Amino acid sequence: MSETAISIWKACLQYIRDNISEKSYLTWFQPIKAVKLQDKVLTIQVPSKFYYEYLEENYIKIIKSALIKTLGKEAKLVYSIMMEKSQQTDAPPYTVNISSSQKAQIKVQEVDAPLYMERGVKNPFIIPGLQKLKIDSQLNTNYTFDNFIEGDSNRLARSAGKQIAKRPGGTSFNPLFIYSSVGLGKTHLAHAIGLEVKRIQPEKTVLYVSTEKFCQQFQEATKSNNRNDFIHFYQMIDTLVVDDIHFISGKKGTQEVFFHIFNHLHQSGKQIILTSDKSPVDIQDVEQRLISRFKWGLSTEIQSPDYATRLSILRQKMEFDGMKLSEEVLDYIAKNIKTNIRELEGSLNSIIAQATFNKKEITLELVEKTLSNLITNSKKDITIDYIQKLICDYFKLSLDTLQSKTRKRDIVQARQLAMYFAKKYTTASLSSIGNQIGKRDHATVLHACKTVDNLFETDKLFKSYVEDLNKKLISD
Ligand code: ADP
Ligand code: MG
Repeated sequence: MSETAISIWKACLQYIRDNISEKSYLTWFQPIKAVKLQDKVLTIQVPSKFYYEYLEENYIKIIKSALIKTLGKEAKLVYSIMMEKSQQTDAPPYTVNISSSQKAQIKVQEVDAPLYMERGVKNPFIIPGLQKLKIDSQLNTNYTFDNFIEGDSNRLARSAGKQIAKRPGGTSFNPLFIYSSVGLGKTHLAHAIGLEVKRIQPEKTVLYVSTEKFCQQFQEATKSNNRNDFIHFYQMIDTLVVDDIHFISGKKGTQEVFFHIFNHLHQSGKQIILTSDKSPVDIQDVEQRLISRFKWGLSTEIQSPDYATRLSILRQKMEFDGMKLSEEVLDYIAKNIKTNIRELEGSLNSIIAQATFNKKEITLELVEKTLSNLITNSKKDITIDYIQKLICDYFKLSLDTLQSKTRKRDIVQARQLAMYFAKKYTTASLSSIGNQIGKRDHATVLHACKTVDNLFETDKLFKSYVEDLNKKLISD
């Protein structure tokens, strides 16, 4: 280590310390080490890329003044980022803008030092009474892989989850982004992955957090001036599970802080698992730089379970509750409750409750009666196929024509109407709608919805089509 580098940096630090709060100084500047000075180019070593980004965003002006004061106008700064040996990648050194007038090289170099500086981190999940920092994973031990029934609808997500649990951070599934509509098993699977990581490597720090809780904690940390502690706490996690990330929509501050945490973890080879009710491209009001990171690893959808999977889930639950139901009854429930597993479990519970309260045997008749409400509701569910059929009948088109690539105005409009109603009446994602209506992408669907809205306002004939179709859809 160069003596002059150290003394020059010391002089810089003195100037910086005089100009910022002591807390910021200790957090952001004390961990920095000066490593080299050559031709007025000072190299400083920062503990992580996050540090570099944070310094760049918040302190570049003051660092620049300090450097010019001590080294003169030609002063230049090079950051060197510490990485753990194990996560050394062959990432080439790259150049970034440090400020508008300066360019600097960032070298990612191998350093033996630990990635984290020791500091008093305030841990929102700390277990009281323990000296050593120990984090309660917040995992629900009821949600395991063993009782997560595999089916076509969840096979990819489940097996990606299993692989991740064997090598967290070591697969290309980072982040793992699991999405589906409600009640299809995202939360269950997310817990199962966390539990499995812990089972295989108990020393790993795993944390499950709902996005709602994450947002709340961040707000509290900001209020009490503990933002850095909050960030540092999350940056210490080895496997971070964030459930229902779509909740971050519209929350700018939380998105920013999550962005930094995400970058740090990802860059340090830590595993991130996210769940959402929409695919990354369909999430609204989330910064593009976050969305693009969500897509870095594997995004996978859990679909509605097929009949066989529904039946297996019912059997498992029955066994767990120590109940016996006839095949006929199981078949009836599995055939009729289709959309969502939470509902499937709910139906079984209400049947059991009915039978116990009224001391009745569970007959098909009792089941039909108990479920009649749910079933008429789900029969009303409007599907994309149904919408396409209705539109084809209405405009006297064949399904092939509707889905074809033709740009004839009438057909384009019919297709756009199909997309519009699919968006309005189903829970399918934009990409899934596009895919089902002639293999279009999500942007086409979004455009279709906007066009229909516009034409509805400006074109009387078109408006009457929309109203007609709407009536037909809800009355059937
Ligand atoms: P989501 O988070 O997608 O809304 P959950 O994970 O909360 O859904 O799942 C709803 C219920 O369905 C939970 O009780 C869960 O245990 C159960 N469940 C979901 N998928 C499966 C599955 N493949 N096998 C067994 N139970 C499941
Ligand atoms: Mg959930």
